[in-house]
Amino acid sequence: MSDLDANIAKALTYLDRFKETGVLNRIGGQDRAANSGATFDNNSPVDEGFLCRVARSDASDIDDAAQAAYDAFPAWRDITGAERKKILHAIADGIVARAEEIAFAECLDTGQAMRFMQKAALRGAENFRFFADRAPAARDGQSLPSPTLMNVTTRVPIGPVGVITPWNTPFMLSTWKIAPALAAGCTVVHKPAEFSPITARILMEIAEEAGLPPGVWNLVNGFGEDAGRALTEHPKIKAIAFVGESKTGSMIMKQGADTLKRVHFELGGKNPVIVFDDADLDRALDAAIFMIYSLNGERCTSSSRLLVQSNIAEEFIAKLTERVNNIRVGHPLDPATEIGPLIHKTHFDKVCSFFDIAREDGATVGAGGERVGDTGWFVRPTLFTNASQDMRIANEEIFGPVLTALTFDTEDQALEMANAVEYGLTGYVWTNDLTRALRFTHGLEAGMIWVNSENVRHLPTPFGGVKASGIGRDGGDWSFEFYMEQKHIGLAMGHHKIPQLGL
Ligand code: NAD
Repeated sequence: MSDLDANIAKALTYLDRFKETGVLNRIGGQDRAANSGATFDNNSPVDEGFLCRVARSDASDIDDAAQAAYDAFPAWRDITGAERKKILHAIADGIVARAEEIAFAECLDTGQAMRFMQKAALRGAENFRFFADRAPAARDGQSLPSPTLMNVTTRVPIGPVGVITPWNTPFMLSTWKIAPALAAGCTVVHKPAEFSPITARILMEIAEEAGLPPGVWNLVNGFGEDAGRALTEHPKIKAIAFVGESKTGSMIMKQGADTLKRVHFELGGKNPVIVFDDADLDRALDAAIFMIYSLNGERCTSSSRLLVQSNIAEEFIAKLTERVNNIRVGHPLDPATEIGPLIHKTHFDKVCSFFDIAREDGATVGAGGERVGDTGWFVRPTLFTNASQDMRIANEEIFGPVLTALTFDTEDQALEMANAVEYGLTGYVWTNDLTRALRFTHGLEAGMIWVNSENVRHLPTPFGGVKASGIGRDGGDWSFEFYMEQKHIGLAMGHHKIPQLGL
């Protein structure tokens, strides 16, 4: 049996139980079908084969989950930070123990390649450990004495929160949003993406097995327009942490207006990698390729626009083309695979539509630009050349293994092109000129910038975007700023003069 066949057999064993029960909701510590009994089918992006049924929830399921989170909130808020730390570390231990199951399930459910998903499960555990360690100090504040008062601040958890996640690396992203919420003392209703529900369910099971009290974390499956919408509109839900498309973020803001929701948005990107002629070009090439073709290009921080200085462009793009043509497209569970299938047909159709858009707009398809095979949602890694910044392929988020290469002559031109899109999530700058790096990063409109590096995540640093790429930051203490309220308490130090009226 080949490695691939062995992996497929193993993955199917892990998913077997979902064939029988489907993916159920979990509300107040109970397994629950949708109140209406409705389900939808979850199919694999590899061959469109049936994986499992999933509860198709609506507003009444969300109402039950919000009530459970509301009821569980006071007790979870009031246990000590040390207790929360212990439970969150136990969740991390549970993730590590089931890392293989999580990775295999994620591959079949999302089409992401095994080489990346193995690490995604372990990174999820790290997210829990990081916020577990911060839980005991989450409420700490400042002492700000004035001449008459001892002013102190403290933080309190905002209340039950809704977490809505997308289908790209859904496991890792769920841990990234939910761990800080729990560490802060919030209770959670999680609505995972309809296209990739399996690992959210495994994660929920791990959490309760680790000792998380019932109702502290509730899972409701379903579509964005019904379950997702109801969550954003629910009066008992105090805040929505959302990761997804910019246009969905805009809808959520409107939906949450009547109940004055606090929102935190991690949205789309069209991130530039800018390569100057003085850079270490071999490393720049490796990083540019990794940041767009890893994770099927379904990555918010992908470097989907290459801006390369004209005098080195021909050679750089020739080397790039050769490497892109070598990237291995295949079954996500094949250890050799570098790119798996895209998540589902609608997304596949969207990505493929850009092959024609590029040609119609006058760009060249320098590599790829076609489907691979007849079943499943595989596309060849694609490179567009001879493009200009006014083309759709240089402005719109394609969210697949598709790179648009552009050239520039001067630093000013590069900055103008880099900033010319509506998004501002990340930027990658390659230069060995220190003052240029300082100047350029200062002018670049992005929430996160790496110089001479691919995206290397460090959990204490802020994660998030500007412009249409998001509102708010995750990571470090920034996560707690979202999930907690600041409280000020002023204590008189003596008998200061109180203004007297009506004497
Ligand atoms: P999406 O916006 O279509 O869906 C995300 C989630 O929102 C899903 O769970 C969906 O069911 C839900 N949803 C949809 N409509 C809703 C509504 N009206 N009300 C409430 N919930 C609703 O996004 P997607 O296609 O699943 O994910 C891809 C997008 O996510 C890309 O744009 C990508 O850049 C972005 N993303 C951003 C980050 C980041 O950190 N900035 C990280 C990962 C993905």
